[in-house]
Amino acid sequence: MKKLLLVACLIVCLFHTCAAAGPLEYDVVVVGGGGAGLVAATAAAEQGASVIVLEKMSYLGGNTIRSGGVINAVNPELQKAQGIEDSTDLHFKHTYEGGDNKANPELVRTLVEGALPALQRALDRGLKIYPEITTATGALWPRTHRLVEPAGTGWIRVYSESAAKAGVEIRKDTKVVSLLREEPLAGRVYGVKAVDKAGNELEIHARRGVVMASGGFGADVKLRMQHNPTLGPDTPTTNHPGATGEGIIMSQDIGAAVTGMDFIQIHPHGDPKLGDLTGRASDFVQKYIYVNIEGKRFVNEAERRDVQVAGIIAQPETRMFIINDQNGVSDPNIFGDHLDELLAADRVQKGDTLAELAEKIGVPAAALEATVARYNELVKQGKDVDFGRPENTLQQTIETPPFYATPRVPTVHHTMGGLVINKEAQVIDRRGEVIPGLFAAGEVTGGIHGTNRLGGNAITDINVFGWIAGTNAAK
Ligand code: ADP
Repeated sequence: MKKLLLVACLIVCLFHTCAAAGPLEYDVVVVGGGGAGLVAATAAAEQGASVIVLEKMSYLGGNTIRSGGVINAVNPELQKAQGIEDSTDLHFKHTYEGGDNKANPELVRTLVEGALPALQRALDRGLKIYPEITTATGALWPRTHRLVEPAGTGWIRVYSESAAKAGVEIRKDTKVVSLLREEPLAGRVYGVKAVDKAGNELEIHARRGVVMASGGFGADVKLRMQHNPTLGPDTPTTNHPGATGEGIIMSQDIGAAVTGMDFIQIHPHGDPKLGDLTGRASDFVQKYIYVNIEGKRFVNEAERRDVQVAGIIAQPETRMFIINDQNGVSDPNIFGDHLDELLAADRVQKGDTLAELAEKIGVPAAALEATVARYNELVKQGKDVDFGRPENTLQQTIETPPFYATPRVPTVHHTMGGLVINKEAQVIDRRGEVIPGLFAAGEVTGGIHGTNRLGGNAITDINVFGWIAGTNAAK
């Protein structure tokens, strides 16, 4: 009898062990706990789906949390109060033409029309913004909203809280290594394979859908050089170390199509030592100019990012300074940096006169004085006949001391290319067919920004397409 009991126990134990080691099952599996992933997870869970987010790093937020956090949306209520005329047609035109007409117009239309509802969704969930509308670097029009919380932290706080409230499970230190599809290049995507920190292999099945939200590949030197050989190991980047693009590759492995992989955005505002965007004395293009090491302006500071960067690359030593006066200071700036800390760390220089500032940064004083005087004259005339800066960024002179200089260099920022999706955020295969069960959103996708992304449009992208992907994956 005892023997029989022992055997029975063994069978039960064995059954349990097997069950525990079998695949986990959820309605929706989200790959990546950055902006797009957390938005998608929230959308899916709020519809009642069981959702897991798998994040390979030990932290959430990806590139989103390191960004300026600013979001573009046509928002008549706030824009009208500042006398700004705008429309979704104009946002479409700026986005599409600002990317050299290389985006999928249907996706651009979805982006611009979804922008305000996406902002409203986040406000309803506790996001806080300043009422003043501005123009992000390379945004081409004043429709940018700034967050009260620094950098992209507001987005990650709001959507990790919302996800938790809706019952989403989040596993960090869990790297997705491949997608599971019924046949190698056909049938439904039904889950993922992942590896946890201890090296354990996991299989996680998705009853309804998988959302690929693994971000871009700006931190992967090999992959980015494959698409732009000039971006070698010495080129700085704003990206977090996890932006290595394997989400794109593993989707290609099961048949996904990619587009625009060569379109890699370089940002003109890199910190010379850190490569990131922190540390500037002024956030507002309305309030600063750029000068080269000869103390001369060289580009329209409100131009597309790629044009600004081409401008810097044409200058001696490929570097520049942002120059502003006391009225142009952002303290703290959108990254949460305080001016006194930046001055103490020698990341920003200050002069009571332009000549003193020029000496500190090693540019000829007479040239800097002449450049600023000329710029002030152009502001008063209301027309930048020198570099064509638009009137809505030509409003404030630089003449109230003290004066400030922030050194900046070009830095790898955003990979515009990636997985082909349709406006339902379904991933498309190389034959042009929808891949059942696979959705994607955010920097991992391509076709939304063309050759050049407008500043402030990435946050719009993760919110609009993250929500669509999560909603559709949960169906
Ligand atoms: P997006 O702005 O599109 O949301 P982010 O860079 O903010 O992009 O977020 C992407 C997230 O995906 C990052 O947190 C990154 O670490 C994560 N990630 C990238 N590859 C994997 C992977 N293979 N498995 C799990 N998470 C991943």
